[in-house]
Amino acid sequence: MRDNHCPKCGSSDVVPRTVNDRLRATDSRGQTFEVALRLQVWSCRACKLCWQGQEAEVAKEAAYQNALVQRSPTQTTA
Ligand SMILES: [Zn+2]
Repeated sequence: MRDNHCPKCGSSDVVPRTVNDRLRATDSRGQTFEVALRLQVWSCRACKLCWQGQEAEVAKEAAYQNALVQRSPTQTTA
């Protein structure tokens, strides 16, 4: 099922692309960190627009949660 279409020109001639992205987030200690991740975005072949769909939002949330788990200390460092 592919009902994806370009938000700019309305064309259905869109292709998925994978891009490297970085996400800025804040952990439970209030420290800002960056998460590098790969996102699936959509590219319109008619007008060259690139945009992020729901897949990207889900991937970002997952990467953020995953990074939080990795950063949460198993032992407290003084
Ligand atoms: Zn377009």
